[in-house]
Amino acid sequence: MSLSQGKRARTALRTAVALALLAAFYLLPWLRLDGQPILLLDLSARRFHLFGYSLQPENALPLFWLVTAAAALLCLVTVMCGRLWCSHVCPQTVLTRVFRTLDQLTAFDGPAARFGPALRHVLWAAIALWTGISFVGYFSPIGGLIHDLTHFSLGMWEGFWIVFYALATWANVVYLHEQVCSHLCPYSRVQHLITDARTPTVRYIAARGEPRGPRPHGGPSVLHRSRGLLDPVTANDYVFRAAHPAIAGALPKFNPEHLGDCTDCGACLQACPIRLDIRNGHSSHCIECGACEDACDEAMVLQHFPEGLIRRMAPEPDGGQPPPALRVKPLLFTAAMLVALVLTIVTAGAPY
Ligand code: SF4
Ligand code: SF4
Repeated sequence: MSLSQGKRARTALRTAVALALLAAFYLLPWLRLDGQPILLLDLSARRFHLFGYSLQPENALPLFWLVTAAAALLCLVTVMCGRLWCSHVCPQTVLTRVFRTLDQLTAFDGPAARFGPALRHVLWAAIALWTGISFVGYFSPIGGLIHDLTHFSLGMWEGFWIVFYALATWANVVYLHEQVCSHLCPYSRVQHLITDARTPTVRYIAARGEPRGPRPHGGPSVLHRSRGLLDPVTANDYVFRAAHPAIAGALPKFNPEHLGDCTDCGACLQACPIRLDIRNGHSSHCIECGACEDACDEAMVLQHFPEGLIRRMAPEPDGGQPPPALRVKPLLFTAAMLVALVLTIVTAGAPY
C-alpha cells in the first residue's frame, strides 16, 4: 500500500497521461472527419490527411514547419521543466509502464503462480502486435489492413513493417527498457545542448540528508531539530566521502542527533531502473523517471519525516556564483517556435 501523498499524486498524473496517450495512439487511425481519416499519412495514395486538411507530399512544407515548431516547443518545455517528456510522454516510458502493470496483474499467488509469466508474455505479445498494426495504420488505411490481415492477403511491405514494429515493441520493453533511454535515444544524448543551469532535475537534498545513516525509529527530522540544514560545502563533503570511501576514508559513526534525514535505507537505489545512486549527484544518464523520488517519499513517511528529500527542483548554487538571471536558451527556443509557427501559416496559405 502506498503511504506517500507525493507518490500518490505523481502516480495519478502519470497514469492519467499514459491512458490519454494510449487511447489517442490506438484510436486515432480509426477516427474519421467528413468521411476522411482524421490522421493518415497515406504513402501508397501519396496523400496526407491531417484533421480535416488533405495534402499531397510535395505540398507538405507546412507539415515540416509544424513539426519544427513542435520540436522547439519540446526543447522549451525541457529547458524550463526538465525531462517531463521522458517521465510522462515518451512511448518507451508509457509502454514500459503498461508492461510493468501487466507484471503486477499476472503475479498470482498459490498454484496459479507458475502461469503468471506465460500469461504476461502472451498478453504483451498481443499488445505488441496491435501496436505494430496501429502504427502501420497511420501510413495505410487501418480498415484495409485488418481486412487484408484476416484474409491473408497483406502486402509484403505492410506485413514487414507490422512485424518489425511489433517485434521492436516487444523486445524494447522486455529486454532493453531503460537501456534505450540511456544509450540509444537521441533526445537523451542532446540534453546538455537543450538544458541550462536552471533546468529542474530530480535531486537529492544533501544539506538535509547528510550525514546519512541508520538510526532508531522515532526521532525528529532535521527540519524539526536545532541542527537544521547543513551548509552546501559540508553536505557535499559528506556526499563525496560516502561515494568514494577508498579515496576519502570511511565516514565516522554519527550520533542520531547529528544525522541528516537519509536513513541509508537504499530504497532509492533499489528503485532506480538504471541503478544510479541519486545521492551521488545528478548524472547525465538519469532519465528523471521519479522512481527514486517515490521510493524516498515512502521511506520518509515510514520514518515520520516530511516528504521531499529527493525531489524535482532547480540546482541550488553551492557556494559559487549563482547562474545568470538572463536565460538565453528559453528565449531562443521560443523565437524558433514562433518563427516556425508563422512559416506554417504562411506556407499553408501559399498557392502550390
Ligand atoms: S530512479 Fe534513477 S533514473 Fe529515475 S530519476 Fe531517480 S536516479 Fe534518475
Ligand atoms: S530512499 Fe531516501 S532515505 Fe533511503 S537511502 Fe535513498 S535518500 Fe536515503
